[in-house]
Amino acid sequence: SIYDKIKLHNGVEMPILGLGVYKVEQGNQIEETIHTALELGYRLIDTASFYQNEEGVGMAIRNSGIPREELFITSKVWNSDQGYDNALRAFDDSLEKLGLEYLDLYLIHWPVKGKYIETWRALEKRYQEGRVKAIGVSNFTIHHLQDLLSQSKEGPVINQVELHPLLAQTELREYCRQNDIAVEAWSPLSRGRFLNEPILGNIADRHGKTPAQVILRWHLQHDIIPIPKSVTPSRLKENADVFNFRLSEQEIAEIDGLNKEQRFGADPDYID
Ligand code: NAD
Repeated sequence: SIYDKIKLHNGVEMPILGLGVYKVEQGNQIEETIHTALELGYRLIDTASFYQNEEGVGMAIRNSGIPREELFITSKVWNSDQGYDNALRAFDDSLEKLGLEYLDLYLIHWPVKGKYIETWRALEKRYQEGRVKAIGVSNFTIHHLQDLLSQSKEGPVINQVELHPLLAQTELREYCRQNDIAVEAWSPLSRGRFLNEPILGNIADRHGKTPAQVILRWHLQHDIIPIPKSVTPSRLKENADVFNFRLSEQEIAEIDGLNKEQRFGADPDYID
């Protein structure tokens, strides 16, 4: 069910599907979206200082009355805040905007060259202090992970990357599996650009589901945590209603076959 969790390598448990809130506006939009999502059972919320809606996220979760320990809140340090001192400040700032005592997960948003190791030290410090339950990275390729793992004690619990049927990230997933790093998918639905694909449509019809649901099921069956974004209540419901069917191995293989290693978002090697 949507309440199921996976165990990260430091023992922390994380929901297997969440809500992404990039481009959800501060104010009514974020508060209503989170209110609806929490009622539908979403417990993982993925925000970032870059999204400029942390205050709204905080407001919505406080108003929900759901006990803090049942929620799983992620935020991220933005590129311009990287480096040791900056990242410490950015973390404190996010926590204050969210109005929380602790974060469940804090990520390095992008691997800014020459800075991400120092940024990681800041995350380790806040982790040791108990102000964040788990620390990880986002948009790290294999070489970034190798570099970080060679210079850190515990390593990231998770890597959040663009990942959908057109960009399956097969090698990166294998590297993460070998190194006990969970994989989380941003733009799991490729921002809706790939929902007309006939192969997905056929599979969806067979199960009485939608292409979006088939894609999210594909993530789940590959042990990838998807964080689809929507502000539309019917779609929030649809994206959470993916726990009452199962794709066959053959169907998974058909979807695997759609992979073109095609990015829609930025390439992590060309961001700075
Ligand atoms: P997404 O793949 O989740 O697509 C969201 C869009 O798809 C919606 O705006 C809507 O237009 C459409 N959609 C959603 N549900 C649908 C449905 N059931 N049927 C039809 N259309 C539907 O893309 P995203 O917002 O880019 O990614 C999700 C989350 O990932 C973000 O909100 C954010 O939290 C995170 N993210 C992280 C990074 C990063 O660098 N770490 C980058 C981008 C996004």
